[in-house]
This record gives sequence, structure tokens and C-alpha cells, in this order.
Amino acid sequence: MAKSPEVKLAVFGRAGVGKSALVVRFLTRRFIWEYDPTLESTYRHQANIDDEVVSMEILDTAGQEDVQQKEGHMRWGDGFVIVYDITDRGSFEEVAPLRSLLEEVKKPKNVPLVLVGNKADLDHARQVGTEEGERLAAEMACAFYECSACADEGGAVAEAFHELCREVRRR
Ligand code: GDP
Ligand code: MG
Repeated sequence: MAKSPEVKLAVFGRAGVGKSALVVRFLTRRFIWEYDPTLESTYRHQANIDDEVVSMEILDTAGQEDVQQKEGHMRWGDGFVIVYDITDRGSFEEVAPLRSLLEEVKKPKNVPLVLVGNKADLDHARQVGTEEGERLAAEMACAFYECSACADEGGAVAEAFHELCREVRRR
């Protein structure tokens, strides 16, 4: 099997949307309820994607960074997961500004991106419709996943990260 170069992925989104929970779900297939929300961590991971071993470095941002710090993370990354919480409309409204900043930092490059609506298990408290997420993703020309870090039956979390790796390697 061919060994491929490392891809650097950064996870963005408002504090509390479940970035850390999603990253840990992807890495360990487990859900852990509480993380220090101010913590920023990087992880290394290898996955077999389309019969190729892909090495990833994943930056789990805190979501409370100032613009300079955000820009630094954006310069570092090759691909980006933007996460919102389907029960928090404000977190959805932060997606477009994050995308604009990304475009600006990476210009003139096309930015590999996936949009994730997390906490899909909390459908009773939903504030953002699935169609709204789909529409925004279509506008940003990126893949869209609704998922749940705590009830990830269909494996949508891994699918989102794998699709992002594919997207990075296509560019
Ligand atoms: P971060 O600040 O974006 O890293 O968010 P965390 O991963 O720390 O999660 C914030 C809170 O949301 C924690 O209390 C998590 O237990 C909870 N949480 C994260 N993902 C989910 C999910 O998919 N469903 C539910 N119900 N809670 C979640
Ligand atoms: Mg976190």
C-alpha cells in the first residue's frame, strides 16, 4: 500500500459545538462528555482511506481565539472542518464569517472544507434545519454532514474526516 504525505486538518467552530468530542470520537470511536473548553490540542492519526494509508495531524482549536490566532491556524492547515451545533443558531451564523476569513488567508487557493452540523441526537432542541445546512454547504461548495459525537451510529464523523482528506489530496 502506498504511503502518502501527511495532511494537516484544523477543526473550527464556536466554543461548545462539540469540536473536541468529534475529534475524540473520530480518533477513539468513543464519546467523552467533558473536555476543558479552553484546551487546544493536536493529534496524530493514520487511517486507511480508499486503500491508501493517510497520516493526519489534527488541530482541535478552542474556538475562543482572536483573529490573529485563527489566521495562524488557518495558515497551518491544509483542510478544515467547520462545525456548528444544530441546537445553537448562533454557532451556525458563525460559519460564514469563518469561511470568509479562511478564503482570505488562503487566497488565491481553493480551501478544502467540510461543514458539520453536530449534536444531531438533540433533534428536539434543533434550531437549524437540515436543509439550511445543506444550502450553506452548497453555497460554500463543500460536503455537509449532520452528525452526533455521542451517538455516531452511521459513522458520519469518520466519513466527514475521510472526505476532507480526499478533498485535500485532490487539490
Ligand atoms: P468544543 O468547545 O467545541 O470542543 O465542544 P466540546 O467537545 O467540549 O463539547 C461541548 C459540550 O457539548 C460538552 O458538554 C459535550 O458533552 C457536548 N457534546 C458534544 N458533542 C455532542 C453531541 O453530539 N451530542 C450531545 N448531546 N452533546 C454533545
Ligand atoms: Mg474543545
